[in-house]
Amino acid sequence: MPELPEVETIVRAARPRLLRRRIGAFHSRWVRQVSPGEREVRAAIVGATIADVRRRGKFIVIELERGSRSAGVLLIHLRMSGRFEWGRTDDRPDSEPRHVRATFDLSGGVRLYFCDARKFGRLRYVADLKTTPLAIGPEPLDRSFTPARLAGILRSRRKLLKPLLLDQAAIAGLGNIYTDESLFRAGLHPLRKSSSLTDPQIAALHQAIRRTLREGIRHSGTSLDWAYPEGKMQTRLLVYGRGDQPCRRCGDTIVVLRVGQRSTHVCPTCQPKARRRAAMTNPGT
Ligand SMILES: [Zn+2]
Repeated sequence: MPELPEVETIVRAARPRLLRRRIGAFHSRWVRQVSPGEREVRAAIVGATIADVRRRGKFIVIELERGSRSAGVLLIHLRMSGRFEWGRTDDRPDSEPRHVRATFDLSGGVRLYFCDARKFGRLRYVADLKTTPLAIGPEPLDRSFTPARLAGILRSRRKLLKPLLLDQAAIAGLGNIYTDESLFRAGLHPLRKSSSLTDPQIAALHQAIRRTLREGIRHSGTSLDWAYPEGKMQTRLLVYGRGDQPCRRCGDTIVVLRVGQRSTHVCPTCQPKARRRAAMTNPGT
């Protein structure tokens, strides 16, 4: 499932191909993916020009305008297997990519295919993001995401670290891969209570989240299956997908836990669950 670095990579590639193009036609082939409905979305977007393409959390945000006035926003969430493919408006049906769920015919003869083998991806039109905001937390790479802001999120929620970091309403963009990698880099066990972290631990987690996401973006995200083939970060992962393999830092064996139905990769030595008791650190007493 694409997370912040993968969506950012897709947005950076799509932006120059989409910017300033006019939407001439829109068709959906899987109506349950489109809200409020195919006909409503078509009426809202056909004839509009793409003014900007950006990322917010795991959403691709396509801003539209008519003349110089805003004409709303198209939100695309790739979920498990959504992806963009490019073609021409005169493509023959037999030359189309696989699993096409929607098509956007754009000025200049460009066609954007939204493909999605597993059909979990979503397209949503919103007239105004100010009145219908995305209910997601801060962007972890924004300047406003400070250690103090992270401390506020962790201490106000009192959840376990792993499910809290996955919660898009708390922080936007993290998924299973970058959460496990960030917790390892911060030396924190995923089952720690979020409210139990010390200030230095919060600072370490803040730095780990940002460094891990930036590294992911630098390497075009992580490719672990057919759904997202363009990344190179998978060769740099320290714990994710490395169950039963030796930790790259200490040599201990990486274990895989289930936390809220998600597989969670941990080094028991680098990420101790609790402070060792005095009796264990002083075996002579
Ligand atoms: Zn280790």
